[in-house]
Amino acid sequence: MNNVAEILHRDGVVLNLGTAVNEVHSAHVLLSDGSTIKTHCVIWRAGLKGAVVASVAGLPQARGGRINVQHDLSVEGFPGVYALGDFANIAGTDGDALPQLGSVAQHSGRWAAKNILAEIEGQRRTVFRYHDEGIMAMIGKNAAIAEIGEHRHKLEGVVAYSMWLGVHLALLTSPQVKIETFIDWVCDYFSCARGPKLLDRSDAARINWRDDDTDTWSRRQRKHWLARAEPR
Ligand SMILES: Cc1cc2nc3c(=O)[nH]c(=O)nc-3n(C[C@H](O)[C@H](O)[C@H](O)COP(=O)(O)OP(=O)(O)OC[C@H]3O[C@@H](n4cnc5c(N)ncnc54)[C@H](O)[C@@H]3O)c2cc1C
Repeated sequence: MNNVAEILHRDGVVLNLGTAVNEVHSAHVLLSDGSTIKTHCVIWRAGLKGAVVASVAGLPQARGGRINVQHDLSVEGFPGVYALGDFANIAGTDGDALPQLGSVAQHSGRWAAKNILAEIEGQRRTVFRYHDEGIMAMIGKNAAIAEIGEHRHKLEGVVAYSMWLGVHLALLTSPQVKIETFIDWVCDYFSCARGPKLLDRSDAARINWRDDDTDTWSRRQRKHWLARAEPR
């Protein structure tokens, strides 16, 4: 985590840990510690919600609009109905819901198919067991973190970065896509060209910060942030 924080800090990201966003307004965001961040642009990237169909299907909804499932992935009180992947709250071995991840979705999908076939053949459904192979996240060039296997062996830096690339390459469907992706990655890695920019900060100086008097973000912090956000 420290390594991730360092890398993000190096790239100009200000981390605000242990603080929730309470309210989003047109010109500021109110945080749970009472402080505000003045902004006209908020990108919300937290939390996944069950698809709309969950709310109209009459199934029992739980956290995040997701459907609570039994240990065999079927929905209690609805014979023959299964919920899985991001759509479901699937309890892990510790009782907490499993995270909304591709691996959980794939694994639960295969398991539900197995249970449906068992039902058709008049056999017993089996309890879903998620085989947790770990998690990994890419942060930037040569920077990633990974927790591998049951004992969550931690890896970071170039090793985790290479592993992330390897795993994602292996998960691609066809050999042709794998080869094309590999060539793209190699070109990107050795090229200094930056990809298309989603953020153009050339107009940052024109943002109206005048009503910032109560802002807890100091002018110095903002200046620093704007300097980091300038195209290099
Ligand atoms: C930005 C982002 C990055 C992510 N990165 C990772 C990652 O690095 N690693 C990882 O493991 N997971 C990652 N995830 C999570 C992962 O993508 C999901 O957990 C996974 O895709 C869930 O699979 P699913 O089949 O349950 O749902 P989905 O993949 O969302 O599939 C549901 C499908 O149902 C369709 N659908 C919805 N409503 C209806 C309807 N009414 N009728 C018909 N079709 C409908 C949708 O269009 C969609 O195609 C990421 C998710 C996001 C959003």
